[in-house]
Amino acid sequence: MTTDQQIATMRTHAGRPASEAAFAQACRFLPGGVNSPVRAFGSVGGTPVTVSSVCGAYIEDIDGQRYIDLVGSWGPAIAGHAHPDVIAAVHDAVKRGLSFGAPCEDETHLAELILSALPGHDRLRFVNSGTEACMSALRLARGATGRQQVIKFSGNYHGHSDSMLVAAGSGAVTHGVPTSLGVCEATANNTTVVRYNDADAVTKVFEQMGSEIAAIIVEPVAGNMGLIKPAAGFQEYLRKLCDTWGTVLIFDEVMTGFRVAWGGYQNVCGVQPDLTCLGKVIGGGMPVAAYAGPARLLDQVSPAGPVYQAGTLSGNPVGMAAGLATLQLCQGDGFYEHLTKLTSRLAEGFAEGARDAGINLVTDCIGGMLGFSFSSQPICNFEDAQAADHDRFGRFFHAMLDRGVWLAPSGYEACFVSAAHTDTDIDAVIAAATSAFQEMS
Ligand SMILES: *Cc1c(COP(=O)(O)O)cnc(C)c1O
Repeated sequence: MTTDQQIATMRTHAGRPASEAAFAQACRFLPGGVNSPVRAFGSVGGTPVTVSSVCGAYIEDIDGQRYIDLVGSWGPAIAGHAHPDVIAAVHDAVKRGLSFGAPCEDETHLAELILSALPGHDRLRFVNSGTEACMSALRLARGATGRQQVIKFSGNYHGHSDSMLVAAGSGAVTHGVPTSLGVCEATANNTTVVRYNDADAVTKVFEQMGSEIAAIIVEPVAGNMGLIKPAAGFQEYLRKLCDTWGTVLIFDEVMTGFRVAWGGYQNVCGVQPDLTCLGKVIGGGMPVAAYAGPARLLDQVSPAGPVYQAGTLSGNPVGMAAGLATLQLCQGDGFYEHLTKLTSRLAEGFAEGARDAGINLVTDCIGGMLGFSFSSQPICNFEDAQAADHDRFGRFFHAMLDRGVWLAPSGYEACFVSAAHTDTDIDAVIAAATSAFQEMS
């Protein structure tokens, strides 16, 4: 990028009249004007920006303004938006039809490629969203163990199925309380919510009712309350408890899968879960997700076994083509090393910019995932994440948007870097952040 372009990117994006009008229209027909609540600007204020197109590292709005994108459609765009290889593969698939409702060869090709990256996993079932993957993995765990109870961690997100829409009350361990109207108490009661990174708290639950616990479901690196890495030995300890009690360990790698490393975080920490949930990256921008595991578990899924699960559009050829092309790009030489380097440079740039402005900021990153919180304390669990300064995040969010950088509109989200981001893009984001921190201090 030339200096002129850099200045253009840094210019104050004054008004977005087309977005304002489009959102007002959207609110007439869509609840809250959006089709997923994370897209609303509820926690940062202002009006959501309506997008016309995405390409590489950039996102363009319907007012014709361009931003450097650090959301990447919430993770899938690891190779950059609309990568020519992915678009070509999708075009090629589309020519042969959109959905067969019958087996296609690419289902097997993508399954084989994904499973080659997950040691101990023999089979998988494709579904259409991360929500479905987690919901189905939990059903399988309950079916295979004949038990009802599951453990989840506060601040971990596993989609919007009833049994996962629960939160902890106060305290390290609580029976789930519904976080949404419409979730039955009886359902929530089968979910026990435990503080993330708190091994003692998990132990207590097992001491009380270990033989009733079908599964522990966990984000091996938490990415839905900022970015929180597991405490040393935490995943190993969960593995040990599950082995002792005959409980199914489910890694929800919908976000971390093929994002933090080839395969997922399990290949970084060396702990093998019994089931893995995937989504986001494996569909390369199409609605594709999956749950995977050893034959002894996956062969209990219908029609091979008695645990029912189905999907009209599951494994459709267009999604499979997008996923295959995306994962083939991820297999390129040095792909994750490059992504990691870009992401850590961005994290360091944020940290330095904040330090220079005298602002307390905690940053962390892994692979192509970056988190930052306006806090003077390390962030280890949901309570810590809540205690961060979210008003300050809201001001930072708008300061960045006005400087041409697209962040998720919530202080609880991670940022995603793609292989299409150049060093110049990263420099421009750091410059924007440094200037935003100065303005805020
Ligand atoms: C995004 C996400 C989900 C839900 O996936 P959807 O496709 O939005 O249903 C589940 N678990 C984790 C860890 C996620 O990040």
